[in-house]
Amino acid sequence: MKYYPTMGLEIHAELLTKSKLFCSCSAEFGGEPNSRCCPGCSGFPGMLPSLNQKAMEYIIKAGFIMGCSISRFTKWERKHYFYPDLPGAYQISQLERPVCVGGNVAIYVPSGEKSIRINRIHLEEDAGKLIHDISPNFSLADYNRGSIPLIEIVTEPDFHSAEEVMAFVDKIRRMLQYAGVCDGKMEQGSLRCDVNISIAPEGSEKLGTRTEIKNLNSIRSIGRAIEAEINRQTDLIVSGGKVVQQTLRFNDTVGETVAMRSKENAHDYRYMPDPDIPPLILTESELERIFLEIPEMPEKRMERYKSYGISESDAEIIISDKLISDFFDESINYYNNPKAVAAFILVELMRRINLGDADINGLPFGAKEFAKLIELGYTDKISRSHMKDVLREMLKSGKNPETICEEQGFIIKEDINTVNTVIDKIISENAGVVEQYRSGEQKVFGFLMGKANNELKGIAAPPVIKAHLEKKLNGE
Ligand code: ZN
Ligand code: MN
Repeated sequence: MKYYPTMGLEIHAELLTKSKLFCSCSAEFGGEPNSRCCPGCSGFPGMLPSLNQKAMEYIIKAGFIMGCSISRFTKWERKHYFYPDLPGAYQISQLERPVCVGGNVAIYVPSGEKSIRINRIHLEEDAGKLIHDISPNFSLADYNRGSIPLIEIVTEPDFHSAEEVMAFVDKIRRMLQYAGVCDGKMEQGSLRCDVNISIAPEGSEKLGTRTEIKNLNSIRSIGRAIEAEINRQTDLIVSGGKVVQQTLRFNDTVGETVAMRSKENAHDYRYMPDPDIPPLILTESELERIFLEIPEMPEKRMERYKSYGISESDAEIIISDKLISDFFDESINYYNNPKAVAAFILVELMRRINLGDADINGLPFGAKEFAKLIELGYTDKISRSHMKDVLREMLKSGKNPETICEEQGFIIKEDINTVNTVIDKIISENAGVVEQYRSGEQKVFGFLMGKANNELKGIAAPPVIKAHLEKKLNGE
């Protein structure tokens, strides 16, 4: 019998606000442990939370880009649990009136386009972080992350393969990045994913008992965890066992899902309305203002790049990293030759990035200098084969491309007298080949052109050399 998996997701994404959700502590990643805390986000009793307006704007943007309806009336609940990462023993979250309800996001998998339904997106605060690996005898708590604003995106159980889940998480990550809502850095935990997963015999109406894999923080481990859990559940059922409803974590090193807690120990969160935070009423004009602030999303960019004549697969690579896409856009403002800029980014800049010689987060030059380099090559001020040498030097020294070309003698001087002398010399030294050409064998032209190009590097651009060589060969 074949078993068919069904999955739903909860994605937690940290918002890019400067401060935390209910106080003015910094929400930046990292920092000396417990250096970004105040009595408010450390759970001291009697502190009054004050809602971060930017966080509200960000969740509304997230809702708009995922096609959700935005609640005009929204409110907060306390979700209680005792765990050392939560000093106040309750998390401020939303239960009854989340900011965003419903929604749809299309994904593209080899089998075609598929629409994934969003159930809701709500706003809540993050918990602190426990550090277990410093001593076997005690754990340490760092509350810097405590109360950083999170959105939790809950989907319907619309996924039936690891591939679909991976495509969806990647798409959401990219959409949030482009909207300026979340940096999408999964390796830093700013986007984490929980997967609910069950299997049932193919064709069966009823879903099987589900388990939940918590806190997956890379697309790769999402794929591996799902495959491992489908296999575990299938083996269990095939050997006559039963899947138990429980929470799992994925051990990336051994590639297995491991039980964290079973349903008997499931939390009763004792949700109650938070009496300190009044419900919020959103007006149409506020929503419209926020909607108009949403920047160009990846699909729009794709259309624009294709209109420049860039191939879909090349555009896809550029768009897959917002920083690279932004750098491309900025560069074509300085040198309006999108195809040339795209080609140089794809072939040279990305190669340097992949080799670890360049970091798109901190290039030692700006888009202006980068564009200048491409312009020098494409207007034959330097030979195109020198462009990559100049780029390497720009990465090393941060000097501007014109200075480097001067210093290295890459600037083509366009000395026509030398061009003519060299071509005359080549013609007299290769009389046989020249005879072949003149008697109609056009293909030997490349041989002569190669020789001329070689000797005239830095003296003239290839199109100029070509014109002069043709003239002389045709006896003009
Ligand atoms: Zn604080
Ligand atoms: Mn949550």
